[in-house]
Amino acid sequence: MIRTATGLKVGFVIAILMLVLNMLVPFFGARWVNAALIEHDRQEQLGRHLQQLLSGLKDGETGQRGFVITGREDYLTPLYQGFGDVDRLYQTLSQSLDDEQLLVLHSLRPLIDEQRDYFTTSIETRRNQGLVAASERISSGKGKQLMDGIRARVDSIQQATNQNSLLSQQEIAWREGLSRAVLILVAVLDLLVIALLFHFTFRALHEGREGRRQLQSLSEQLANGMQRVELRNREISLLSRMAGALHSVNAFDECFMIIGRFAEQLFPRNAGCMFLYHPSHDVLEEVAHWCDWPAGLELFEPNQCWALRRGQSHQVVDARKELICPHLQHNELLHAGYLCVPLMAQGEPLGVLTLRGTPSVDLELAETFAEQVSLAVANLSLRESLRKQSVIDALTGLHNRRFLDESLRRELLRASRNQSSLAVVLLDVDHFKRFNDSFGHEAGDLVLRHLALEMKRQVRASDLACRYGGEEFALIMPEIGLDDAVERCEALRQAVMRLQVHYGGQALGAINISLGLAMFPQDGEEAEGLLHAADSALYEAKRSGRNRLCVYQAGLTSKPVVLT
Ligand code: GH3
Ligand code: MG
Ligand code: MG
Repeated sequence: MIRTATGLKVGFVIAILMLVLNMLVPFFGARWVNAALIEHDRQEQLGRHLQQLLSGLKDGETGQRGFVITGREDYLTPLYQGFGDVDRLYQTLSQSLDDEQLLVLHSLRPLIDEQRDYFTTSIETRRNQGLVAASERISSGKGKQLMDGIRARVDSIQQATNQNSLLSQQEIAWREGLSRAVLILVAVLDLLVIALLFHFTFRALHEGREGRRQLQSLSEQLANGMQRVELRNREISLLSRMAGALHSVNAFDECFMIIGRFAEQLFPRNAGCMFLYHPSHDVLEEVAHWCDWPAGLELFEPNQCWALRRGQSHQVVDARKELICPHLQHNELLHAGYLCVPLMAQGEPLGVLTLRGTPSVDLELAETFAEQVSLAVANLSLRESLRKQSVIDALTGLHNRRFLDESLRRELLRASRNQSSLAVVLLDVDHFKRFNDSFGHEAGDLVLRHLALEMKRQVRASDLACRYGGEEFALIMPEIGLDDAVERCEALRQAVMRLQVHYGGQALGAINISLGLAMFPQDGEEAEGLLHAADSALYEAKRSGRNRLCVYQAGLTSKPVVLT
């Protein structure tokens, strides 16, 4: 197929050639036909001249006869006039005739001259010898003979001239026909060239329109692409900011708050919610939601979500036709469709991310978001469990001494700021070694575990119970007066006394504890001092008979306050 630009170029070149042809063809055609016309006119003219020549000769004969018969001189006027005409015409014809006719014309000359001599002699005879002699001469038939000869030659030339005239007429007709045919051909070619130009011009216009349309569509695609890139950049920047923020969180509440905030920006048109496994691992609970996600949805079991069951994203576009997760069955947002993405970390399910509204939701973005969130939650869980491991005593589940040191300093600062008092208690199992010795080490462990449980039961939420080391424990009780502290210690001692621990079907016997109590700020303002004071009081409790509480008293070592 010819390209439009090439077609247009060729079309215009042909059009220019056709313009030249349009000028040349009529011009040369007319000249050509005109030449034939001129030739025809020339032949016609020749015919007329021949006739005039003949009539000049006839006039001469008539004049001669008239003079012979009448003897009047005025009859000779046409004769001499005819002579003059004949000479002039002979001259003209001898210049115009072609060679063949010229031969005939030249053969006419002696006859004309002879006829003239004959006329002259006849006229002389009439003048000198009279009418009879002249009439006899005429009657001899010589004049007629000469005239017949002349007429025969003129007729011969005339016939040739007529023939030429006819031929030139045919030539004219042929040339006219041919010129007309060429003109028609040129006109047809003109039309073809115009059609060609028309075709390529319209094609160029169409292609121009099509090109503009394509350009517009391309520019729209480019603009859309740019918008998508901008959106992607914004999403990437948000995801990276979220990753940075999640990297430095230490608490789950803060982590969930950050996730909600960023989800709102990443999915502004998709209300959503994040569910995580409860520590018990048998149900999932909502930990974060964004946009207009209805608050207060119930807990659900893992098998109520298709994404969790299949371990892959579950997208519902038409809620009437597709499989709906039972945990969303009563959610009025379902008609817009939804997407559930499982939150997985190292192949373990952590929870599920649910987003309302498909197909507007970006699956790829949701899955990337879910990956980051999973990673952050898994990291935080790991950190939390490591932190717990580092501050929790494995045997009793109470905090360990390291945690006590950190917490005591913090609590003392707070108490100092609030100008409140605080109690520090150290307690030790009396004759604990006996449990080990009598029932084995595991029985001793069991006693420690029961004691820890009892301590947890007895203390307030704000209090801190720790394993201080071996069979020694510590209690920190913020915002408590001396009397209340004594009361609580005594209650604990009594409760421990009532404990009945069995090991291997055997009762381990009564468990007693001795306690030493020191109060902030009166017994010390620093952690070391207070612990030391409590230890002194404990020592005193041991020394004075065990199974009792001793309160530290400045100046004295300590004094027992409760005796049982
Ligand atoms: P006292 O009344 O003077 O406190 O006597 P006691 O026997 O309780 O004190 P002692 O310090 O002589 O003995 C403490 C024992 O506790 C020694 C150690 O073997 C034992 N013990 C320390 N930690 C553990 C533990 O985690 N499990 C078990 N089963 N025994 C432990
Ligand atoms: Mg001890
Ligand atoms: Mg002991």
